[in-house]
Amino acid sequence: MLQRAETLIVGGGVAGLATAWGLAQRGAQGVHLLERESRLGFWSSGRNAGILRTAIHAPATRQIALTSARTFADPPPELRAHAPEPLFDPIGLLLFEGHAGSPDPMWLADLQAAGAVQAGAPAEFESAYVAEGARAWWLPGAGRVQVDALIEALRGAALEAGVQIHTQAQVESLWKDGAGQVQGVHTANGERWEAERIVLAPGAWVQPFAQSLGLPFPARTTRRHLFFAVPTAAWNPEAPVIWDDAAGFYFLGTRQGELLLSLCDGDDADPDHLIADPMLARLVQRRARASLGFLGPLDWRRSLVGIRTVSEDDVPVIDRHPGQERLFWVAALGGHGVTLSLGLGPLAAEILLEPERTSPLRAALAFDHPDRQVQLVRNYAPL
Ligand SMILES: Cc1cc2nc3c(=O)[nH]c(=O)nc-3n(C[C@H](O)[C@H](O)[C@H](O)COP(=O)(O)OP(=O)(O)OC[C@H]3O[C@@H](n4cnc5c(N)ncnc54)[C@H](O)[C@@H]3O)c2cc1C
Repeated sequence: MLQRAETLIVGGGVAGLATAWGLAQRGAQGVHLLERESRLGFWSSGRNAGILRTAIHAPATRQIALTSARTFADPPPELRAHAPEPLFDPIGLLLFEGHAGSPDPMWLADLQAAGAVQAGAPAEFESAYVAEGARAWWLPGAGRVQVDALIEALRGAALEAGVQIHTQAQVESLWKDGAGQVQGVHTANGERWEAERIVLAPGAWVQPFAQSLGLPFPARTTRRHLFFAVPTAAWNPEAPVIWDDAAGFYFLGTRQGELLLSLCDGDDADPDHLIADPMLARLVQRRARASLGFLGPLDWRRSLVGIRTVSEDDVPVIDRHPGQERLFWVAALGGHGVTLSLGLGPLAAEILLEPERTSPLRAALAFDHPDRQVQLVRNYAPL
């Protein structure tokens, strides 16, 4: 059966949903989103730490994050109306990094200009955590995103504006004309979609699409483990996120009263064969014994492993595919998809609807930006 869309979005994670919301904000009609799972946000967007962190080294990513953070602090009415609970808890983030004599972090000047960072830990948030990073920074506007509420808000706002969302709709292949120009997609349930714009937001499944276009996608897929535990000593789950860049470790309380911990691991992984590494459980327990003794012995509850799609320069790809008129990417959100979401949606919509405009930010988001030409093959050690 032939179906028609003005804009067809493939992928119902935060990238696809934020794009749909961005298009809805601009009054775009005929927008359809195809998600192969039976619910939205099933993959990376449903398996992450939900931290909003604007202290990001890559300037373009940081710029989108700062815009997004402002929107999280004061969401527009259409998102508020559809959010079942507040999208964001501004619990703040205490960031440790550097060593004696190391240069200032690359994000410092921008965050200072935005009034988003202060040097040192505020007295009321000083904790018994022993950091490896020599310098402490306080980011009062950072914190904890309620990702389920975010997905629900984006979905509701998009639906209200007329976007049609189709779940259990797996795209099997791109449909090209005789000149090799993509015109639409074929789905596993036998539908053929034709669209003026096709937006690929497939999370970790970028490579199968890119390969069918004859170019590797400029990003790698890497796994990250998260662990959940309950402290036995008294603690405040509303305390700030603590992120120790020098140690490669962060932790925060969840709204459910658990402690969420990560070793910031990121070794290459295949999204179709994602398995947990039992060694990481031992390492995170060792880290907790060394650094979190003030929380008492931890009662370890569960863990999960998720996948991040990371470009070499840590900048998303939001661009038209080289040589294709109708095909766009909103992908490679790395470890920032939740943080970026509310800045990314309107930006992606602008790029889709006004593809000929240029700006330094748009140049940085290009598929073939020179900083991501080299794909290093590297494994990150967990500690
Ligand atoms: C452990 C972990 C912790 C993280 N912590 C944070 C954090 O604290 N803060 C932060 O900002 N970010 C964090 N991230 C990153 C964030 O989760 C991702 O950047 C973001 O979720 C990526 O969203 P996405 O929409 O690109 O991908 P996804 O959420 O994976 O969505 C892609 C969707 O496309 C669908 N799809 C794929 N192929 C097809 C097809 N052929 N047909 C139809 N549908 C298809 C998939 O089913 C999927 O639902 C973390 C990630 C992980 C793994």
